[in-house]
Amino acid sequence: MRRKLSDNLKRVRDRLGAACAKVSRDPSTVKLVAVTKTVEIDVIRQMLEHGVTELGESRVQQLVKRAGMIEEYRSRRRLVGGSAGSDAPHWHMIGHLQRNKIKAVLPWVGTVHSVDNLRLAEDLSTQSQKMERTTDVFIEVNVSEERTKHGVVVGATQHLVEHMVQMSNLRVLGLMTMAPLAEDPEAARPYFARLRELLEDIQREKFATPDFVHLSMGMSNDFGVAVEEGATVVRIGTALFEGIAANVP
Ligand SMILES: *Cc1c(COP(=O)(O)O)cnc(C)c1O
Repeated sequence: MRRKLSDNLKRVRDRLGAACAKVSRDPSTVKLVAVTKTVEIDVIRQMLEHGVTELGESRVQQLVKRAGMIEEYRSRRRLVGGSAGSDAPHWHMIGHLQRNKIKAVLPWVGTVHSVDNLRLAEDLSTQSQKMERTTDVFIEVNVSEERTKHGVVVGATQHLVEHMVQMSNLRVLGLMTMAPLAEDPEAARPYFARLRELLEDIQREKFATPDFVHLSMGMSNDFGVAVEEGATVVRIGTALFEGIAANVP
């Protein structure tokens, strides 16, 4: 399993490198978030040992449980050996977030990718303030306007950003989207290009802050295209963990 994981990781990094080379981008401008929702805790530990510390989960309950287990493991190692064995993880909440789950998830999460309405943003800021912290957030945009998808519609995004940048305990990093499921990664290109245009349009507004520069887009099947279209964060699960025993709840 260890071998398989490092092979997969190398393949993903090679694909990232090739996509960057194609559009003359520096690979260090693209952050890899490993989406661990399908694997066991042991695999997450190995990922950390490989130096991949940006970890993503799409469900609050699972994120809290796993982040807690990793933290416990690291502190136990520190007790016996003096070292935690790897750098600390940074957890990303990438799935839909309900307001009543904010309190549970905030102690564990650094970045929330799925803010899509004002009330959620307000509650996130308020709770962050109570915890005396700032929370990094992306605004999820439903570029494809599929009815089954979460995310703010393109036409309402600017308004939401304008309000959110004024909230004291949020740092608005940019926009996030998911392209519609398709076999051909090229099918995703127009959606990623649209998200980049939207980011650039908003950056020209007076209220835009210097933090508002990131695009969280691209998954296992389409991250190459996403990087070509300007992704600065890719969220990858399957391509990293294929061939590794799945977490069967
Ligand atoms: C599961 C998930 C991913 C990763 O998808 P893969 O196709 O397995 O790489 C990325 N983003 C979100 C929001 C997800 O839920």
